[in-house]
This record gives sequence, C-alpha cells and structure tokens, in this order.
Amino acid sequence: MFRSIRWRIATIFVVIVVACIIGLSIYLARYLENSNLDIIVILASLVAAVITIATALLVSRTTTVPLKKLTSSFRDMAEGQFGQQVEVISKDEVGELTTAFNLMAVKTKEVVTLLTTERDLMKEILSNMGDSIFVVDADSIVVVINTAAEKLLGLSGKDVEGWKFDQRVHNRELSDILQRCQQTRAQQAGSVVIDPQNVFLGVIATPLEDRGGCLLLLQDLTQMQRLQAMRRDFVSNISHELRTPLASIKALAETLMGGAVNKPEVATDFLGKLNTEVDKVTQIVAELSELSSIESGEATLEKKPFDMAQTIDATIKRLNTQADRAKVRITANKHPGLPQALGDSEKIEQVLINLLHNSIKFTPPDGSIKISARKSGKYVEVTVADTGKGIPTDDLPRIFERFYKVDRARSSGGTGLGLAVAKHIVEAHGGKIWAVSTEDQGSTFHFTIPQNQKI
Ligand code: ADP
Repeated sequence: MFRSIRWRIATIFVVIVVACIIGLSIYLARYLENSNLDIIVILASLVAAVITIATALLVSRTTTVPLKKLTSSFRDMAEGQFGQQVEVISKDEVGELTTAFNLMAVKTKEVVTLLTTERDLMKEILSNMGDSIFVVDADSIVVVINTAAEKLLGLSGKDVEGWKFDQRVHNRELSDILQRCQQTRAQQAGSVVIDPQNVFLGVIATPLEDRGGCLLLLQDLTQMQRLQAMRRDFVSNISHELRTPLASIKALAETLMGGAVNKPEVATDFLGKLNTEVDKVTQIVAELSELSSIESGEATLEKKPFDMAQTIDATIKRLNTQADRAKVRITANKHPGLPQALGDSEKIEQVLINLLHNSIKFTPPDGSIKISARKSGKYVEVTVADTGKGIPTDDLPRIFERFYKVDRARSSGGTGLGLAVAKHIVEAHGGKIWAVSTEDQGSTFHFTIPQNQKI
C-alpha cells in the first residue's frame, strides 16, 4: 500500500491533520478558557479539514497529475507513439523527471526515425533489385526474401518467410549450395536451372557471421548464356559457310597446278569456277561487314525523302535478267498517291534486292513475284509476294537470324545472311520486317519505312 505516492501523501496528511487538531484544540482551550471542549475540538477539526483539502488538492495537482500523464505517455511510447511531450508544471523532482522524459522522447523519436528511414531504404533497394535475394537464419529458416525472388518462385514473401528454405524452394542444387554454405561457413558459388521457365541462374551463398545464417544471391544469367550460345553458333556457322567455298578453291587450284593449267579448255572452266567460289566468299565477307557496321551503329544512313515506287522499279530492272533466267515473272502494282518515304534509298534497295533474290531463288519456273507498296499509318509498307516453295511454320520465326537456312540442301548456295541484313537495315530506319508463308504455297514478306512527314 505504501508503495504508492498517493498513500504516502495521504498518511502524511493524516498525521498533519491529527497534529493540527490537537494543536488547535490546546490553543483554543487556553484562549477561550471556560468554553466547552467539544465545540473547540469540532471547530479545530473543521479548520484542519479545510486546510487539509486545500493542501491535498495542491499536492495532487503538482505531483500525481504529472505522474499520471507521464505513466500514460510511457504506455503510448510502448505502443509505438514516439516523441510525445508532457507539460512541465513544477520545478521539483517530478518536474525534473518530466523534463528528462521529454528529452528521452525526442531522442527516441530521432533514433526510431533514423532506423525507419534506413529500413525503408534497405526495403526499397531489395525490392528494386533485379537479382533475387534470400536471407536464412542458422536453421535455414527464410527471414528475408525480396521481390525478384518472389517473382522467380511465383510465391509471395508471406508464403516463404518463416518456412525452411527447402520446404518452399524445391530445387535440389540450390538447397545443396545453401547447405554447403551453412556447414563450411565459407562462400559457395554455383549455377542452377529453374524449371519450367528454363531460367539459368548464377548462385552465390555468403555466410552471415553475426546472424549465423546465410545470404543467397541469385543472378539471372539466361540472356548472357543465350548470347554466348549465339556467339558459339556464329563462329561455327561462319567457319562452316567459309569451309565449303575454300575447299573448292583449294581443290580447283591443286588440280590446275597438277597440270590442268596446260589444257586451255579445262583451265578456263576451272578459273570460271574459282571465280564463282571467290565471289561466294566475298559475298559472305561483304554481308558480314554490312551487318556488323549496321549493328555497331557505324553505318551512317543518309536519310532523305525518296520515292519508293522508283526504288522498286530500279530493283526490278536490276534483277530482271536473273528472273528471266529462272523463268519467274516480276510485276509491280501501280501505287497512286503513295507518300514519299524517309530513309537511305540505297540501303532500302539492298533490302528489296535481298527479298527479290530469295523469291527468285525459291520460286520454281513459271512462278511469279508481285511487289506492291501502300501507305500504312505513318509508314510506307512494301510487300513482296511469291508463288514459291514457302517456309515451314516452325522455321518462320528464325529466318531473320544470321546464317539460318530452312533447308541447307535447297538454299541454292545462299549465305543465310540476306534476311538478317534486311532486318537490320529496316530496323535502323525505325521500321519492321516480317514474313507470312505457307509451305508449297508461296511466301509474302512485308517491311515498313517511315513516311516523309515534312511537307
Ligand atoms: P539465303 O542466303 O540462304 O537466302 P536468307 O537470310 O536470305 O539466306 O534467307 C534465309 C532462309 O530463309 C533461306 O535459306 C530460305 O530457307 C528461307 N527463305 C527466305 N526467303 C524465302 C522465300 N521467298 N521462299 C522460301 N524460303 C525463303
């Protein structure tokens, strides 16, 4: 009971009141001499009671009220409301306590604000990272998982945090890397493939010394792997493409050196063949350097307004002899009201040559090729349609890749680079190129080039 300030004060008051009553009674008894002692005691009690109540009110205001306020502010703080200030209404110990509380509240708020800011920053960094992050404790319970990791697993953080890593992530290699990190307390690295998305991940598991767990970092290296595969394919394709003409050149040269050079007829024939093979190699080299200069942005496009109909006619003229030899007829639709295109007309002619070249190559005798151009939104769209062999649906998405040939046997000695060059030129102009085809029923190639907007 006496632990409470209120009761201590009350006890003091009772002692004071009793002392006052006794003192007043003695004083009044002496002063009034012959008076009735009862009245004296009653009077003294009343005076003492009034003094006591007044004093009690004063003491309560200066002591218990601020203490109550302090208690309630402490409670608020415990519930997370920092920085609350309590009014200082006395200069005594309670006042000092209140001042100290106010200072503590300000400091606590500063520290909490700093920690919250840092935590929010960490959260933002984690959720915006492209790499996936898992933090597990010493028992391999997931304590943190970032947004990239959630996306990778197709799970929300709530479904993973608080669970054992291998209960939620069903990948044996990943679990093994984590386990090795936990056991050896040394950094572990590896790579895994996540199915069914077929994502190739680089994994680094680092031990966290203070927490006793591990940090698992997963980097998506799928694109890099694809690029490496493309580079490997490219090198193997280019060597394959060069090997055939070079082998022919070597065989022809050896035969000539072996005595054929002295037989004029044979020598002329062989030299003609040598010339053809050298042309093939030259074409491959020319197309490759064209591709690389467009890709690297080195090729400067001389963009000017030009008449697409004229470019189409000029291209047809250039390839008419070849078409006649193949017994294929090329026709161009008239294009009334066709707006001017904006681009490098020489490069666009190159695109048309590559497309027409293919159509002639892959269209059997008596077939036909139609070229047309029309306005399509802010673009001029050119269409080259043939009645040739067509392209199987499975191959269609790949024909614009370098060195891709649907059927090496039927590619009639092409380099497999013509469409890749065409695609790069069109895209460098801000246009698109695509093909529609049905096997044995012909192919239609479309490409767009921006229309000249200047009047
Ligand atoms: P290529 O030098 O072999 O013609 P391209 O890149 O120009 O190389 O074409 C890639 C492949 O696409 C060709 O080998 C061929 O299989 C196919 N192709 C392209 N155009 C046509 C077409 N008009 N008709 C049928 N197949 C075509």
